[in-house]
Amino acid sequence: MEGEDVHVKKVVIIGGGLGGLSAAVTLAQRGVDVQLFEKNSHFGGKLMPVQLGDYYFDFGPNTITMPFVFRHVIEQTGARTEDYITFRKLSVHTKNVYEDKTTFFLSSDRDYMKEQLAAIDRVGALRYDDFLREVERLYRLAKTYFFPRMFRSFVDYMSPSLAFALLNARPFETLHHFFQRYFTNEHVIQAYDRYATYIGSSPYMAPATFAMIAYLEMVDGVYYVEGGNARIADTFAMLAKRAGATLHTNRAVKRVIVHNGAVKGVELEDGEKVEADVVIMNADLLQAYRELVDPHDRSYERAEPSISAFVMLVGTKEKWDDLAHHNVFFSPNYKQEFEHILAGRYSEHPTIYVCAPPFTKEGSSLFVLVNAPPLTKDGRMQVDEQAYKQLVYERLRSYGLNVVPDVERVITPLHIAEQFGAYRGALYGVASNRRRDTFLRPSNACKEVKGLYFVGGTTHPGGGSPMVVISGQNVAYYLLGVKLSLPF
Ligand SMILES: Cc1cc2nc3c(=O)[nH]c(=O)nc-3n(C[C@H](O)[C@H](O)[C@H](O)COP(=O)(O)OP(=O)(O)OC[C@H]3O[C@@H](n4cnc5c(N)ncnc54)[C@H](O)[C@@H]3O)c2cc1C
Repeated sequence: MEGEDVHVKKVVIIGGGLGGLSAAVTLAQRGVDVQLFEKNSHFGGKLMPVQLGDYYFDFGPNTITMPFVFRHVIEQTGARTEDYITFRKLSVHTKNVYEDKTTFFLSSDRDYMKEQLAAIDRVGALRYDDFLREVERLYRLAKTYFFPRMFRSFVDYMSPSLAFALLNARPFETLHHFFQRYFTNEHVIQAYDRYATYIGSSPYMAPATFAMIAYLEMVDGVYYVEGGNARIADTFAMLAKRAGATLHTNRAVKRVIVHNGAVKGVELEDGEKVEADVVIMNADLLQAYRELVDPHDRSYERAEPSISAFVMLVGTKEKWDDLAHHNVFFSPNYKQEFEHILAGRYSEHPTIYVCAPPFTKEGSSLFVLVNAPPLTKDGRMQVDEQAYKQLVYERLRSYGLNVVPDVERVITPLHIAEQFGAYRGALYGVASNRRRDTFLRPSNACKEVKGLYFVGGTTHPGGGSPMVVISGQNVAYYLLGVKLSLPF
C-alpha cells in the first residue's frame, strides 16, 4: 500500500473520536503538522466519560476486544501501554438471562463453554470445536484482506484477492442461519445472534461474515480498561500532543475549504480559517459531508443508518453481586424486536443490556442500553423518553432487578445525534443489513475532493472501537506511504 501523498505536511483532522485520534498519533509521530478540532469538551467522541456525583460511567464502548489494536497505536510512539492503561481480561464475560429465567454465560474458556452447552445443547457442545474453527477462519480472512487496507475507490474492492476473500466469507448466509447450523437451543442461538447489534444490524439480515465477532469474544477475549475505557482516548490524545500535534476541544469546524477540486483547509465556527493540504474527516461522514463540504455526490445520503440506542446511566447504592460485567436480559421474541426496530418502532419487550463495571467502590454504576431505531428522516424520536425509561425499569424488575436510582441520566438517539453529529443518531454509521452496505462501505478517500479522507465508524472497515482505530491507522499510513502491518 503505497501512499500518493507522501509529501503531506499539514493535516487538519475534524473530530477527536478514536478514529481521528488514532490518525493524529501516527501522523504527528512521523513529523506531520497535525491540528485536530473537536466540537465537544472531551476527546474520544462516543467513548465519553460521564461522572454523575460519586458514580463514574463509560458512555459508548463498554465491550473492548482486540486490545492489541490500541496497543499498536500507543507503542509506535515508543511508549509502554502498561504505563498508561491496564487492559483486564474477563474470563466469564457475559451473563445472558431469558424470560423463563434460564441463564447462559459466555466465556473465552473453551472447556467451560462445552460443559455448559452439554447441559442445554448437546449438539452444540459436540459442534463447538468446529464452530470455533469456522469463526476463526472468518476472522483470519477479515484481518488479512479487509482490516489493514485503505479503500480509496470502488476499484480497490475489485482486486482478485479481495474478491476471493469476500466470496469465502459467507456473504450470502445470514448470521442467524449460521448460528443455527451449530446450535439447536434457541437461547444459545439468541445469545450469539446479538453480535449483529455490535455492528448496528439485525441477525436476520446481516451476513454471516460477522460471526467472526464470536472468535474475538469466545477465543481472543473480552476486556475492559481499569478505571474506565475512556482512558484509551485520553492516552491517545496525550501521545498525539507529545508527538507535536495541536489538539483543540470546544472548536467545531463549519466547512471544508475546497478550491479547484482540492482541499485547502477548514473554516471553524468562530470564523478562523486553517490551511491544510490534507483534511481527515472523523466526524460522521453521512452527516458531516453534507454539512461541511459543498456536496455534488449525494450517494452517502442513500445509506441506511445503523440502529441507535436508548441508554440509561444509573448509579445505585446497591451492589449487584449477581450481575456479571456484561448482562443481557433477552426479549421473548427477538425476531419481532428487530422487525419493530427496522420499521422505526421501539419494542415494548426490549432486550436490555446492562454493564456493571467495577468502577464505583460503593454502590454500582449501571450502563443500561436498549436497541433503538435511528431517528426519523426529519430528526424525530419515536417514543416518549420518560415513559420508555419507566418501561425499561419495569422490564428489569420482571427479571428480579429492582433498580433504585441514586443518580440517573438518560441518553437517547436525539442526544447521540446532537452531541456527536451522528446521522439520525446511528451508533455505527451505515447499517450492515445489506451485502452492499457491509462490503462497500463509503471508502476512505473522497471521490470528489482531492486531499479529503475519511476515518471512523461510517467508513471502512466499520464501526466499533477497534475498527475505527484501524481506519485511522490505515489512512495515516497511506498518507505516509508506509505499509501498515498490524500485530495480529
Ligand atoms: C451507546 C454506545 C455503545 C457502544 N458500544 C460499543 C462497544 O461495546 N464496543 C465497541 O467497540 N464499540 C461500541 N460502540 C461504538 C463505538 O463507540 C464507535 O464505533 C466509535 O467510538 C466511533 O468512533 P469514531 O472515531 O468513528 O467517531 P465518534 O466517536 O463519533 O467521533 C467523531 C467526533 O467528531 C466530532 N465532530 C462531529 N462534527 C464535528 C465538527 N463539525 N467539528 C469538530 N468535531 C466534530 C464529534 O463530536 C465526535 O467527537 C458504542 C457506541 C455507542 C454510542
